[in-house]
Amino acid sequence: MMRDFVPPQRLLLGPGPSMVHPRVLQALAAPLLGHLDPAFLGVMTDVQHLLRFVFATANPFTIAVSGTGSAGMEAAIVNMVEPGDAVVVGVNGVFGTRLATVIERCGGKAIRLEIPWGQVIPTEMIESALRRSGPVKAVVLVHAETSTGACQPLEAIGSLCRDHNALLIVDAVTSLGGIPVDVDRLGIDVCYSATQKCLSCPPGLAPLTISPRALSAIKGHRTPCQSWYLDMALVAEYWAEESRAYHHTAPISMIYALREALRLVEEEGLPARVARHRLNSEALVAGLMELEFLPLPPAEHRLPMLTCVTLPPHIDEAAIRRQLLQIYGLEIGGGLGPLKGKVWRIGLMGESSTEANVLTFLNALEEMLI
Ligand code: PLP
Repeated sequence: MMRDFVPPQRLLLGPGPSMVHPRVLQALAAPLLGHLDPAFLGVMTDVQHLLRFVFATANPFTIAVSGTGSAGMEAAIVNMVEPGDAVVVGVNGVFGTRLATVIERCGGKAIRLEIPWGQVIPTEMIESALRRSGPVKAVVLVHAETSTGACQPLEAIGSLCRDHNALLIVDAVTSLGGIPVDVDRLGIDVCYSATQKCLSCPPGLAPLTISPRALSAIKGHRTPCQSWYLDMALVAEYWAEESRAYHHTAPISMIYALREALRLVEEEGLPARVARHRLNSEALVAGLMELEFLPLPPAEHRLPMLTCVTLPPHIDEAAIRRQLLQIYGLEIGGGLGPLKGKVWRIGLMGESSTEANVLTFLNALEEMLI
């Protein structure tokens, strides 16, 4: 007989998932309802209200896609990009690179704006791509590039896109709930996220909001969406309060959990939550710099929820990370792609962003390095 699985105690300070509040774990354990039960439909409505609040949007189409952040990414791209569409995409890390691949798999022509990892895409570069490239369907940017710790500025890009009749699609997987993602103010047309980062819920859902302008673009498409499961015109019928037509069986327990996680965000308030993430990351960066770990992005473009640092010379980074996990139960992330072995990624996301966690990590690291 296979034995019970009892997870070891961990402090999750990596690039996600983050720590989950006991109230969210409790919500996961609540009895199931049928996915068309009026009581469950009420929970879906609550989730939509709360998601509009965190996305700072009035978009009626604001839902949680069934699937992780990558499902949100696919949903954004397969619904907006048709074969032959030109799409400008910022490529300065793993997730911008993945977006370009998804665009091409949809038959789109990805116009890659490539810059060194750790830096952000300058607005002038986007403007000149829009001016040079003929009709562009969309500009796609990663707000918080989790592979490098860089925060992409979004001011002025929405209006630039409107001037060129292009849609603005933003990956807010790591940013939502940790820094402002002002969808309406910034003129973002499609924005997706994930539950396991600054919302501090387990992985499994991808919050997604789509502007009325982008919804009309979908209606004008020449070809049917190449994905049936992620066809947002069909999924909309399930989330719309007037219809609630069956599309697929919603992950009921995850939607309970997201409702609770979002309620915690609402209780704390977004400005207080943003300030907490900033304060704890400043303390972390100061401590790391004392130990010769230097932030990769320049100071003005650093994310507060994900600190990516280069390593002091002559340390066995993989061995130290392994020991942090084995001895202290503490998880941090290594580098991805070309940054593998060269950087660490320390996440202070949602519930993980506390002063106590910063001190625990720095003390443990200092001991390892002695
Ligand atoms: N986009 C960004 C910026 C991410 O950091 C991640 C995951 O870390 C994803 C997309 C993909 O999300 P998931 O791993 O939940 O599918």
